[in-house]
Amino acid sequence: MDKWNIETKCVQSGYRPANGEPREVPIYQSTTFKYDTSADMAKLFDLEASGYFYTRLQNPTNDLVAAKIAAMEGGTAGMLTSSGQAANFFAIFNIANAGDHIISSSSIYGGTFNLFNVTMRKMGIEFTFVSPDCTEEELEAAFRPNTKAVFGESIANPALTVIDFEKFATAAHAHGVPFIVDNTFPTPVNCRPFEFGVDIITHSTTKYMDGHGSAVGGAIVDSGRFDWMAHADKFPGLTTPDDSYHGITYAEKFGMEGAFITKATAQLMRDFGSIQSPQNAYYLNLGLESLHVRMKQHCANAMALAEFLKNSPKAEFVNYPSLPGDKYYDVAMKYMPKGSCGVVSFGVKGGRAAAEEFMKKLRIFAIETHVADARSCCLHPASSTHRQLTDEELAACGVAGNLVRMSCGLENTEDLIADVANALG
Ligand SMILES: *Cc1c(COP(=O)(O)O)cnc(C)c1O
Repeated sequence: MDKWNIETKCVQSGYRPANGEPREVPIYQSTTFKYDTSADMAKLFDLEASGYFYTRLQNPTNDLVAAKIAAMEGGTAGMLTSSGQAANFFAIFNIANAGDHIISSSSIYGGTFNLFNVTMRKMGIEFTFVSPDCTEEELEAAFRPNTKAVFGESIANPALTVIDFEKFATAAHAHGVPFIVDNTFPTPVNCRPFEFGVDIITHSTTKYMDGHGSAVGGAIVDSGRFDWMAHADKFPGLTTPDDSYHGITYAEKFGMEGAFITKATAQLMRDFGSIQSPQNAYYLNLGLESLHVRMKQHCANAMALAEFLKNSPKAEFVNYPSLPGDKYYDVAMKYMPKGSCGVVSFGVKGGRAAAEEFMKKLRIFAIETHVADARSCCLHPASSTHRQLTDEELAACGVAGNLVRMSCGLENTEDLIADVANALG
């Protein structure tokens, strides 16, 4: 299975039906599971046997789809969550407690920034935000003795900065902590961060993976390569006994390949219940089956739009990592040479008001708080997703007041360009 190319994994990985079983992933629409004896069930509660007992923690449909995403990323274990927000929260909270510290790229999704900077700070976890373009020295200076992870987005939403995986992974590993990357925008079809030193990957599956604007969801995948025991003092939650599971030690019992996801399932899913519904996991799997085909068209449309805008006197600037001349072109070519994503951002000449006027005139691109589905859409971050941020925070996220984020769907390329040309006037 590991030797398959990504296209085959999109279609075939995860669910492999045995003789006479359903061809399509079954939806286990059941909150609970039946056992013959209490002794059988007790083994599950002690993590002595694997199996299902309650869908707040685990469901077979979800696990089949998570296994597909893990295979696509080249990881050893995966889990689905109710949203991308839940995935990023779990990925950090699984290894950081009150009093701990995280280093994050400042160029990240507005919702994640708020989660870290406001909500998780209230839980006593400190964050230092560094520019994705920081020097090695600047990155080094951000580490503290209580730093537990480094976080970034492969392609940031909406700034479209591309992170230098090797720079961040090298620094994280020198300090004995994992590098966690949100790989939502390129998807594993275009970029596989584990090949460049990343340890844990998160996704908002709500975006390209689902691809049809049908189901909110998230995923976490573990590379299985971070050695928790080698840094046992930093990660007591993984390397010392868990009293809520009869004293098992995750890193010992489940090894490097399984400890992180097992702990996140057994503790965080049990206590927070941020599970994806099996019905949504089913929709997600339908999306995954065509992800490799769809990404090509999203990227072709985005490239054509970026080229058009680059030559348009109405555009002040254009951001698209795969466009020659883009600030992130070289790093994008290194880590995602086949393509980046379907999202292009640009500044409308004339400022905030001109941006809003342009958006009113669009007929195909609809105004939505969304990206990355079959239908083209657009958003003005400064007046929507990023409106809680101060001007300095906006600048740190790489979001100008006149920036419009254009998500190219699967429509005809010329129709999309004509729509934008007409609206720019
Ligand atoms: C949308 C998004 C999220 C949040 O995901 P939800 O599924 O909306 O909770 C996280 N990271 C990135 C990069 C996103 O684009």
